[in-house]
Amino acid sequence: KRTGRGRLKVAGASSGDGASAPSLRVQLLDLLDADSRGEFELLYQPIIGADGRVRSVEALIRWNHPDRGQLTPDHFIDALIHSGRIEGVGRWVVSTAVRQIEEWDAIGLGGLSININVSPGELAHPGFCSHLRTTIAESSIDPSRIRIEITELALAGTFVPTAMLDDLSNIGARIVLDDFGTGVSSLSHLRVKSLSGIKIDKSFLRHAADNIVDRGIVEGMIALAHNIGVDVTVEGVETRDQAHWLASTGCEAMQGWLFSRAVSATDVPNIAAQRFDMPHSEV
Ligand code: C2E
Ligand code: MG
Ligand code: MG
Ligand code: MG
Repeated sequence: KRTGRGRLKVAGASSGDGASAPSLRVQLLDLLDADSRGEFELLYQPIIGADGRVRSVEALIRWNHPDRGQLTPDHFIDALIHSGRIEGVGRWVVSTAVRQIEEWDAIGLGGLSININVSPGELAHPGFCSHLRTTIAESSIDPSRIRIEITELALAGTFVPTAMLDDLSNIGARIVLDDFGTGVSSLSHLRVKSLSGIKIDKSFLRHAADNIVDRGIVEGMIALAHNIGVDVTVEGVETRDQAHWLASTGCEAMQGWLFSRAVSATDVPNIAAQRFDMPHSEV
């Protein structure tokens, strides 16, 4: 029976609620074995180009918890990171995602790219790039179809050595800056060698309809990205009005519930065969 979504707390997290300690331990133990029990699943959310075609899908992890149903990453990603389990799960994510687009190629879907989220700690781990390299080499996938989404936190300070980013681009994978404009924003992060794209965070869209400042920031970020030759995906597109406005900004791609939620792998072929009705752009 599904008992709904509970928030998973980690030792060392802000809450000092001792009363919840026993259940906390159980939850953490659950998480440590979730991997071996095969409880993780990747869902895929389409990213739509200006022509209305699906150009890529973003792999988004879910935990199919035996009692609580399907949990989104905000319930467990931090716990994975703090318990040191993220590297192993991240390797599973990479392997699964690459195998998946190979399978889609095999059924004639052809040419889909895949966006893979990588947390700063994973990327800083020396094993990450070698696993990615091996996985791609053992597959039939052109590395440029792998789009590694990193956040600005990965680039802040010396969290991830430049050599690791060089490794990534030497492999031939694309580097995309996720949640752009939030967190530890510094425009110097755009100097990252071989940056291929940015994803504008969905928080900028929430009030875009009635907030001229948010609209101006989004339009400015898109112009900035284009000035340095990287492409732009806007995430969190939920309304036709937003899509209509964004089409006029010249962003390359949109992602959001207006088009599709994250779906299971078996639902992707149908969605990828579709041509989405995009508001007309100036092209
Ligand atoms: P993200 O990479 O920024 O992913 C976008 C999030 O926005 C996803 O949440 C997606 O379901 C949600 N979203 C998409 N369209 C809309 C929309 O129109 N409106 C709204 N309100 N939300 C929308 P999700 O799947 O819960 O993932 C949350 C975060 O967890 C991701 O944010 C990413 O940072 C992280 N994550 C997901 N999968 C992985 C993974 O395999 N590894 C790592 N390290 N992190 C992951
Ligand atoms: Mg992402
Ligand atoms: Mg994002
Ligand atoms: Mg986000």
